[in-house]
Amino acid sequence: MRKTKLNELKSYIESISKMNSALELIYWDMQTKMPKKAIEQRSGIIEHISGEIFRMTTSDRMGELLDYFVHNIEGLSEKDKAIIKHARKEYDETKKIPEERYREFVIAQALSEGAWEEAKEKKDFEIFKPHLKRMIDFQREFVEYWGYKDNKYDTLLDKYEEGLTVKKLDKIFDELKNGIIKILNKIEKSGKQVNRDFLLGRFDKNSQEKFALFILNKMGYDLKAGRLDESMHPFTISFGNKDVRITTNYDNEDFTSALFSSIHEGGHGIFDQDVPDDLQRTGLDTSLSMSIHESQSRFYENILGRSKEFWEYFFPFAKYEFSEFKDISLEEFYEAINYVEPSLIRTEADELTYSIHIIIRYEIEKALINGDLDIDDVKEVWNRKYKDYLGVEPKNDSEGILQDIHWSDGSFGYFPSYALGNIYGAQMLHTMKKEYQGIYDDIRNGELGGIHMWLYENVHKYGAMYSPSEIIKNISNEDLSCKYFLDYLEKKYLSIYK
Ligand SMILES: [Zn+2]
Repeated sequence: MRKTKLNELKSYIESISKMNSALELIYWDMQTKMPKKAIEQRSGIIEHISGEIFRMTTSDRMGELLDYFVHNIEGLSEKDKAIIKHARKEYDETKKIPEERYREFVIAQALSEGAWEEAKEKKDFEIFKPHLKRMIDFQREFVEYWGYKDNKYDTLLDKYEEGLTVKKLDKIFDELKNGIIKILNKIEKSGKQVNRDFLLGRFDKNSQEKFALFILNKMGYDLKAGRLDESMHPFTISFGNKDVRITTNYDNEDFTSALFSSIHEGGHGIFDQDVPDDLQRTGLDTSLSMSIHESQSRFYENILGRSKEFWEYFFPFAKYEFSEFKDISLEEFYEAINYVEPSLIRTEADELTYSIHIIIRYEIEKALINGDLDIDDVKEVWNRKYKDYLGVEPKNDSEGILQDIHWSDGSFGYFPSYALGNIYGAQMLHTMKKEYQGIYDDIRNGELGGIHMWLYENVHKYGAMYSPSEIIKNISNEDLSCKYFLDYLEKKYLSIYK
């Protein structure tokens, strides 16, 4: 009896997963290859399939099966328990919202995204403001359905990062913010000027692609189970571990743009390619939390990809491919790719100041969701925080409060994942260095397989079996702490900005 029900549940989850892969393939095509005129017809297809998936996910049969396992879960394998727990969470997330309200939300969401695009183009927050208010009101209402204990924002955090609370995150982010600002002040006092002019010039697109593929291959991203394409915004998409695709965006005038986004997405891609076959189509075939996934991409992009040891190996190849670097030394190149400058745009921020952009968004979201900040004051608060923390002021709304898409579709609670990814990555590095003698010699020789293997053994092979706090505890015997990330930043940046 129980076995039959379990098999039925699993095959149901498998069907949903296959439908999702079909939807994602359509989405991938839309972002990379689709002719411009197809947008409306394509949206129709996407809407139809999404509707089917929604119906399957929230069907009565799904509910019955999940309810059955509320009392019949003891004695099941750890994996089966995780599958059921994961499915339950997804089910509750949609099912607890009255269907009518959910439908209204989806419509409001589409309008809001459109308004955001228009507002961003016209650099006018007023166009977007009423829609932002609606998105916040919806989220506040949804939190009531989902339930919360201390803080309304906890419920939204938990969606992306199981078990994370405002209480924990306030502590982590305050320490991180103060630590980064301290390093930033020291850098400013040093007065050192880093030249990065040679990173801006004319870089042939084909050469950029060739070079990115060379690095991706060395990293361990399997090009027989993936591919690199071009899209407006870089992303990673998985249709199962044998087909995980990444994209990048080439800028002919900036060497670093496509390079580091390819390495970043490659980090995401390696994770999804690594999740074992027996977790495929169970709902556990990617990371449980956004921040653990992001820790992998940022590990490859920053900790590894912006390290001197990495470029000791790769820079000679870059010199061979790009004549712009003919007279540039490794030291000059290393300093240039780690150039620090407080700036306005999150996606273009350097490794040191990036987390401050996230903390600003976190502080604002938390206040908005808890009703502590009025929509009429939000722009002023945004601008003031940028001035206070980073010393920069937006000249218009597009380079200020309108820069990110996330709030336009109601994705509140998501931003912290990016900064948490940095913290997780550095804490992993701390343990990795202890366990892996000769890691830096290997990197210098372009041998990146040892790092890949370590990440596989400690992170990737578990897919979504464990929560982020379990993963980091398992690795480091400690809870998440930003001290390792701050140590890493201080050591690295104060040696560049002596
Ligand atoms: Zn990412």
